[in-house]
Amino acid sequence: MSTTAFAGWEQPLQDIVLPVKETYKDIFHQGSAAEYENAINGARELVTNFLHRNRQPFSGVSSTALRAAFAAVDFDTPLPDYESLLQEVQELYVKHATAFHLPAYIAHLNCPVVIPAVAAEVLIAAINSSQDTWDQSAGGTLMEQQLISWTAREIGFGTVADGVFTAGGSQSNLMGLLLARDHYAITNGGHNIKKQGLPGDASRYRIFISEKAHFSNHKGAALLGLGEQALVEIKTDARFRMDAELLEEAIAREIQQGNIPIAVVATAGTTDFGNLDPLADIGRIAAKYNLWYHIDAAYGCGLLLTEKYRHLLNGMETAHSVTIDYHKSFFQPISSSAFIVKDKQYLRLLRMHVDYLNPKDEDYDDLNQINKSIMQSTRRFDALKLWFTLRLMGKQKLGAYTETIIETAEKAAEVIGLDPELELLSYSDIGVILFRYAPEQYNPADLDALNQYIKKTMFNTGLVLVASTRVNGNFYLKFTMLNPLTTLDDVHFILNTIKETGAAWRQ
Ligand SMILES: *Cc1c(COP(=O)(O)O)cnc(C)c1O
Repeated sequence: MSTTAFAGWEQPLQDIVLPVKETYKDIFHQGSAAEYENAINGARELVTNFLHRNRQPFSGVSSTALRAAFAAVDFDTPLPDYESLLQEVQELYVKHATAFHLPAYIAHLNCPVVIPAVAAEVLIAAINSSQDTWDQSAGGTLMEQQLISWTAREIGFGTVADGVFTAGGSQSNLMGLLLARDHYAITNGGHNIKKQGLPGDASRYRIFISEKAHFSNHKGAALLGLGEQALVEIKTDARFRMDAELLEEAIAREIQQGNIPIAVVATAGTTDFGNLDPLADIGRIAAKYNLWYHIDAAYGCGLLLTEKYRHLLNGMETAHSVTIDYHKSFFQPISSSAFIVKDKQYLRLLRMHVDYLNPKDEDYDDLNQINKSIMQSTRRFDALKLWFTLRLMGKQKLGAYTETIIETAEKAAEVIGLDPELELLSYSDIGVILFRYAPEQYNPADLDALNQYIKKTMFNTGLVLVASTRVNGNFYLKFTMLNPLTTLDDVHFILNTIKETGAAWRQ
């Protein structure tokens, strides 16, 4: 039993701890502190082993081989102790888990996590506050609110801004579209969609979005009963950013056709290209046509942390609502995400009261975060991770990490651009690079198959994990750089592996 003394808790721990009742030792309670420490220590050791022993981003195990190992698991026959449990989990999971922290992992938008945030998870799981109401969380509510206010200030919103932590960027984008829809209906004819359902003209609602926007917006439009047909996709420029002129033309065209523009969604950091739509220009157009302006900064939000690149987000403050994914660009473990609005009044569109949870007569003003959330009641205290991170590391240090990533990505794009065997398609404002292996001797018609082979072969060995996408029908390899520890040497190693793999391709 550890005896760390925390100021404010004066009574020695030994005098408080109850004897263990064998039967209830698995329940987290005063009598199971020793069991708790034993379990946490075992799990911690497994993590340390993962750090030391998983030397490549993926083991390369096949799903068939791994599935076979699962066949022996019988939930009706529990394992005797933590040792056997951790052993089993190591074999079935940890040994083969994708290691986001290794530089040769350069695939999806998964950042390495910072240790203070991981430590916070220990408290989050055990104390298990629920963020829906003040009476299930107390200080946790105030921490979440203070982090939301801080984020809103960084965006450039004023003091009436508000928001809530969400499960992810997809959920935050859905909230943006929902508020856009309901705000339009209620301010144009007083139609309350929450109570009355969709108005008759909802099928003519139109939301403008870049053709490179995240697909969660399409899912969101579908869920909101507007259908994907409500999305008007605007073509992008040579660097895959929404073309603001085409946006204005599209709005005018839709109005002329009798449709009803309600919102524009800009992306600050597209998933595939890492570039930012012209936020300020789009903001001006949204204001001119009186449209709700949502910015999806799930990826680009990391730029908030930097001094050098913050200007790329200029115009963000003109939005009505913003999606922030701390688990994409703030080095936070999944889930950690937020939806922020410029004016807290907008969130009233979501508010519902029930007697068993947040009765009207007992509403602690704005202390019940459930009033701000779209479809979560019981909700994890994810905010504590960001609290640990910012209080211990500060914004500056996180910002320096982001700047390092951007600088390495710039240099990597340069290296790729100069390599005669590689064809650079796109470099980004943040950390995405699109390219393909395309030495002269290959027939252009074979390049798709060749690059698909490279990606798959490297995945099967687990040595290097890259992402991919299609642009204008062609297959490209993709680097998403989110790790400040990734050096140019690592990039050279990855590129050499790609070239060696490609050179071994036989049709
Ligand atoms: C990842 C991403 C999302 C979705 O966020 P999740 O947290 O994965 O739900 C939305 N928009 C963009 C631009 C993204 O990159």
